[in-house]
Amino acid sequence: MSSVNFENTAVAFQHKNNGQLKRSFWLFKLIASPTLVKIGGALTNLAVGLGIPIGWAIKKNIFSQFCGGVNISESKKAAHHLAKSGIGSILDYSVEGKENEKDFDFTADEIKRTIDAAENNNDIPFSVFKVTGICRFSLLEKVNAKQALSANEEAEWERAVGRVFSICEHAFKKNVSLFIDAEDSWIQDAIDELAENMMVQFNQKDFIVYNTVQLYRHDRLAYLKAMHTRLKEKGAKTAVKLVRGAYIEKERKRAAEMGYIDPIQPNKESTDRDFNLAVDYCLDHIEDVAICCGSHNEESSAMLVEKMNARGIASNDKRIYFAQLFGMSDHISYNLSHAKYNVAKYLPYGPIKEVMPYLLRRAQENTSVKGQTGRELSLIEKEIQRRKKLN
Ligand SMILES: Cc1cc2nc3c(=O)[nH]c(=O)nc-3n(C[C@H](O)[C@H](O)[C@H](O)COP(=O)(O)OP(=O)(O)OC[C@H]3O[C@@H](n4cnc5c(N)ncnc54)[C@H](O)[C@@H]3O)c2cc1C
Repeated sequence: MSSVNFENTAVAFQHKNNGQLKRSFWLFKLIASPTLVKIGGALTNLAVGLGIPIGWAIKKNIFSQFCGGVNISESKKAAHHLAKSGIGSILDYSVEGKENEKDFDFTADEIKRTIDAAENNNDIPFSVFKVTGICRFSLLEKVNAKQALSANEEAEWERAVGRVFSICEHAFKKNVSLFIDAEDSWIQDAIDELAENMMVQFNQKDFIVYNTVQLYRHDRLAYLKAMHTRLKEKGAKTAVKLVRGAYIEKERKRAAEMGYIDPIQPNKESTDRDFNLAVDYCLDHIEDVAICCGSHNEESSAMLVEKMNARGIASNDKRIYFAQLFGMSDHISYNLSHAKYNVAKYLPYGPIKEVMPYLLRRAQENTSVKGQTGRELSLIEKEIQRRKKLN
């Protein structure tokens, strides 16, 4: 039995007053409908595109459920609120789809500002970035495929590598741990190579740079082990965020269209099996491995708790973190934190118009077809009923 009770809704929703709880209930109810999400998403995009001022409505509802604020200063307040319940925040600058050098430079500077915000700040234990936020996607594709680059592209790639280096160096100097997110498989080799180089450079003493391993890929357990061996040979510590993986449909579709072997596991059970084996592998090598379990899966979280207990690893051991996204699976985050485990939440932020793609993805992910809305809703409902009985 896990020592954490994820059913405890009094703990899970301690941070929400009755009005906020009801708002979350209606929001999840609304996004449980794929049709409404589709129509709502299209209308919202149209309104934002036409400059119709609906920002306040978005901000009060879906934005405040899933985002920390429009900038670092607002997000720091949200982080402080989470910290009151012992939960850390990971400021995630969620502006996507930029494709020019000026934007990439801006994003790199912004990520450094999130690192500054995290320096000596217990509210913010990690920073994070996506390589596609600071490098052109099609260039990453070319590098990944080991295609020859033109002289211009070579120079562009050098600038991108320079940005990655300067972000990681900044984190190292400020002693802030930093996640590099995992992305599409057809650019991930390039990202892995960058990440491993940064780990060799900056993880000699501490766990600064974290690569991300997606266990929905059938080759990733082997990759995790090989990466650990390579880093060990170079005297560096391995830090990994373990996730299942977010791009399953896109991956399967591309593989089918282009006629190569699907990089994704044949089924959910195989993904779960490799996720568990990856956790085991990291715990077996905990002397030089740090992990962040990035998951909304209760079983995975409970399993890690049990395994830590069985191995006598303290709940607050800095090498092991649990992480969820802001606005989702609070029953996991708050109950883990209540039991004194290390927990952090990705706190996405950015101008409303710019984070719309992120918000729409969260809404789509939460539709009743694939998502966890049923679970979120039933827990919120349970808490509403519990509070009613108290009055
Ligand atoms: C803090 C945090 C950070 C994250 N960072 C990243 C990141 O850097 N990169 C990234 O790609 N994702 C990232 N994710 C998203 C993550 O990969 C998952 O998409 C998401 O968390 C759902 O998986 P789960 O473990 O929470 O829950 P579950 O509901 O147990 O698992 C759902 C996942 O299982 C897998 N799956 C579902 N059906 C099948 C099937 N038929 N066959 C094979 N596999 C299947 C898919 O990966 C799916 O997303 C992050 C998530 C969190 C919470």
